[in-house]
Amino acid sequence: MRFLEERRQVLAAAREISQSGMVMGTWGNVSMRCPEPELMLITPSGVDYQLMSMEDMVLLDSSYRIREGSYKPSIETPLHMEIYRNREGVKAIVHVHSIYASSFAVARKSIPVILEETAQVVGHEVPVAEYALCGTQALATAVLDSLGEDRRAVLLANHGLLAAGVSMEDALRICYVVEKTAQIALYAQELGGARTLESAEIVQLYQKFKSYGPSKIVKEE
Ligand SMILES: [Zn+2]
Repeated sequence: MRFLEERRQVLAAAREISQSGMVMGTWGNVSMRCPEPELMLITPSGVDYQLMSMEDMVLLDSSYRIREGSYKPSIETPLHMEIYRNREGVKAIVHVHSIYASSFAVARKSIPVILEETAQVVGHEVPVAEYALCGTQALATAVLDSLGEDRRAVLLANHGLLAAGVSMEDALRICYVVEKTAQIALYAQELGGARTLESAEIVQLYQKFKSYGPSKIVKEE
């Protein structure tokens, strides 16, 4: 069995989206690009997240050939595969059906950048991809169109949310922040409407957050 670290991360993320309530049952799916970049690991179709194990992950190449695994891969395999094929920098994809993001997806309204967190983590308004049936190549094409060159999140019309990150941690964080943004946008509407951040502010926040993390104080000698 190859790519143990990637398998561990895909499994942990799959359990997390289930435990956090961002999906019910076996819905949603998670994948990761392997160190051999034409290979991806994806969650199997229809297997309970809590019973899923590392060897249940399906290893596929870019021609959709199954290299390792005994289950059928997720129904949304084309969606994940087409993103990895077209967006070199994407290393992990998480797809969820969370309530607030899905509310925007059914209203077919993009989620505005109303929080600093949204600007920092996502960096753009979350658009709605044109509707296409789940599991189809047409859905993969529609989502890819909306993701474009550098977007990190997109809503699937009447369906849910997809996050494309530079790591699994990043993809999960995008899901949490988009879901929270959607929830707050709805509450703000009750208060008369939210004000979105200006595009210059969004760019500034996004760039600044890239270098965010623990850093030690440099002591002068
Ligand atoms: Zn779905």
